Amino acid sequence: TVSMDELIRQAHTALYIAKKERNRIVIYTPDMDQARLRERILANDMRDALEKGQFELYYQPILSVKDGAVRQAEALIRWNHPQFGRISPVEFIPIAEETKLIIPISEWVIRQACNKVAEWRTAGLHDIVVSANLSLAYFDNHAYHLPEFVREAIQQAGITSADLKLEITETVLMSDPDYAVGTMQILRDYGVSLAIDDFGSGYASFQYLRDLPIQTIKLDRSLISDIDSNPKGRMIVQAMINIVHGLHLETVAEGVETEEQFRYLKECGCDHVQGFLFSRPLPADEFAAYCRAAKGAEQSQ
Ligand code: C2E
Ligand code: MG
Ligand code: MG
Repeated sequence: TVSMDELIRQAHTALYIAKKERNRIVIYTPDMDQARLRERILANDMRDALEKGQFELYYQPILSVKDGAVRQAEALIRWNHPQFGRISPVEFIPIAEETKLIIPISEWVIRQACNKVAEWRTAGLHDIVVSANLSLAYFDNHAYHLPEFVREAIQQAGITSADLKLEITETVLMSDPDYAVGTMQILRDYGVSLAIDDFGSGYASFQYLRDLPIQTIKLDRSLISDIDSNPKGRMIVQAMINIVHGLHLETVAEGVETEEQFRYLKECGCDHVQGFLFSRPLPADEFAAYCRAAKGAEQSQ
């Protein structure tokens, strides 16, 4: 037996689906639990979310440790859903990967990022490199020529390949390493920079760092959060930065939240920092304002 409240909740669930699926009769079944329901709704709504302009790119400043200047930003996608409000990419990117919508969404992200660089330049904000995240399902799609698309997006926006960076996780090397490295090489030959994202959260294999055509290693937030509390964690961060530098690659520390973390990263010679201590991801115009304020502070010193 179910309680009255539960019965009403189940009826609401069925009603929601009935409305979504064009007013057909829907009978509640236990597999319509909340998570799955939400997932189904999101998968369904995602199909025309692009057309409806519901996606938005936020930009998180990446600061140079040496002089505090902001010359880079990471583009982070948000979905402004009419019912659920702002939805995190952690929730909807996996759904997009399943439904294959990851291709048009990723294309939108790349185009949007390139256009934003051009727009900022016109507005007097020079030298901002934007880095965009590429999901495995997009990067590793053999039927799709990613470098060609990237090249066209850069040309159409009127920027150069040095203005764009692409972030991938080490998982792209798991399914078909030869194909992944081939794609990376084409992008690199074309002049786009590549970063390994979330390094230290998975296998953290140093072997591939040796051979990949990449420029940047982003140290995962989990490594950085260890700095405050864990002496061994501090040693790992230091050692990793040394190895990465030894390979002539640069480091970005992700998820820097405390002054102590920042101080330690400086000591270790980390090149760039990104995190809530400096700024959360911002809408495009707020990011531009952040950069202008940072420049003003620099000049008045
Ligand atoms: P990521 O690429 O590692 O991005 C960094 C995430 O850390 C962002 O979460 C950012 O808001 C968050 N973050 C930054 N600084 C701090 C901090 O100091 N503390 C904490 N706790 N978090 C911090 P977000 O925006 O929710 O994105 C999550 C993930 O979703 C990204 O991780 C990335 O893997 C993926 N993603 C975001 N945008 C895109 C996109 O356009 N395409 C694809 N394929 N994936 C994306
Ligand atoms: Mg990233
Ligand atoms: Mg990351």
